[in-house]
Amino acid sequence: MTPEGHRPTETAEELAEFRTQLRRFVDREIAPFVDEWEEVGEMPREIYRKVGEMGVLGLGYPEAYGGMPASLTMRSVAIQELARAGCGGVFVCLFTHSIFAQPMLALGSEEQKQRTLPGVFSGEHIAACAITEPSGGSDVANLRTRARREGDEFVIDGEKTFISNGMRADFYVVAVRTGGEGAGGVSMLLVERDRPGFTRTRLRKMGWWSSDTATLHFDGCRVPVANLLGREGAGFRTLMENFNGERLMMADEACAFAEVCYDEAADWARERRTFGVPLVKHQVIRHKLVDMRMQITATRAWIDRCTARMDTGDRSEEFVAELCMLKVMAGRTMQSCADQAVQILGGMGFMRGMRSERIYRDVKAIMIGGGAEDILKELASKKLGL
Ligand SMILES: Cc1cc2nc3c(=O)[nH]c(=O)nc-3n(C[C@H](O)[C@H](O)[C@H](O)COP(=O)(O)OP(=O)(O)OC[C@H]3O[C@@H](n4cnc5c(N)ncnc54)[C@H](O)[C@@H]3O)c2cc1C
Repeated sequence: MTPEGHRPTETAEELAEFRTQLRRFVDREIAPFVDEWEEVGEMPREIYRKVGEMGVLGLGYPEAYGGMPASLTMRSVAIQELARAGCGGVFVCLFTHSIFAQPMLALGSEEQKQRTLPGVFSGEHIAACAITEPSGGSDVANLRTRARREGDEFVIDGEKTFISNGMRADFYVVAVRTGGEGAGGVSMLLVERDRPGFTRTRLRKMGWWSSDTATLHFDGCRVPVANLLGREGAGFRTLMENFNGERLMMADEACAFAEVCYDEAADWARERRTFGVPLVKHQVIRHKLVDMRMQITATRAWIDRCTARMDTGDRSEEFVAELCMLKVMAGRTMQSCADQAVQILGGMGFMRGMRSERIYRDVKAIMIGGGAEDILKELASKKLGL
């Protein structure tokens, strides 16, 4: 989110109307197809365009680059509605562009922004952000992929892994080492998919099947110096900023998936009969559902509070700690609700095609990606001065 893209002024009616439109779209164009996309391991490319046409991909970004000014509350509505399809794979396909857009807006030149962002926000182009390496993702300051300067080009050597949209992105922002050891040597480069020396390998995963996740290989890959985002050594700080928005988004997504689990389990408990009565008439089942509702309600309230704080532009240390803790909490809410839902669904909960089964598999991507729990708790403790 950028200050220029902010417009925290929607009325309750505007938000409700947006929610209704998006819900209809998800019910018509996404939810009926997610099982099929999961099995074939791909969400069709045209879905990016359809979601882009609705303005969803550009929400909260500057109009000058094809975005649509909006509050984070409006983006939160979009996250919740797209998550109602109960498919983390689809979600990550559609929202990974946000971790590309943030460093591009923060550091990119006017030419770089005009060349990449309008197509990404319209869904015409796909974007990825490559930070994690096979040697580790948590310790970003020590990344090893190197870009050395040769005349008016950078030559990149190294590997990135677990990269969302990695196989089919058109544009990548890639964190590279252009300088010495540590955080100060990290820079961001724009890499287009057809650069010689840049290849990709698809990865198979526990969950998020319909999303494409890849290892990226850079073997003497050359990009012009004009592809550097900002100045050399500016990458680390921008990446840290990027993570704050990503944590809030992932928390919102996790809570929305927890709600999907609750809905599926509650519907099932009303329909399914054992010992002559619907499941929901057994006190222990009702209490499981109430436990889920309590966790969801508390997490949702915290998300709303953080969304409002972020909309005010709060970037305090204490707020960064709160975002770290929120993402941990939301991941656990999702995990616990998926677990309870699968249990209530019984054997059906173990079957493909049930949303809770998929969410049960998807949850680990939330708890590891975008900062694993241990790392986030450690960062929170530092920001809290512990
Ligand atoms: C499906 C998926 C999609 C992803 N998409 C992207 C993407 O688009 N772009 C991208 O750049 N990355 C992406 N990632 C990578 C993700 O951000 C990393 O997996 C994550 O940051 C952790 O890095 P790692 O896997 O190398 O684990 P490691 O850094 O090796 O850590 C392994 C475990 O050890 C713990 N640990 C590490 N250090 C410490 C410590 N000091 N104290 C205590 N515990 C510690 C961690 O919490 C973790 O549980 C994705 C990952 C997944 C699973």
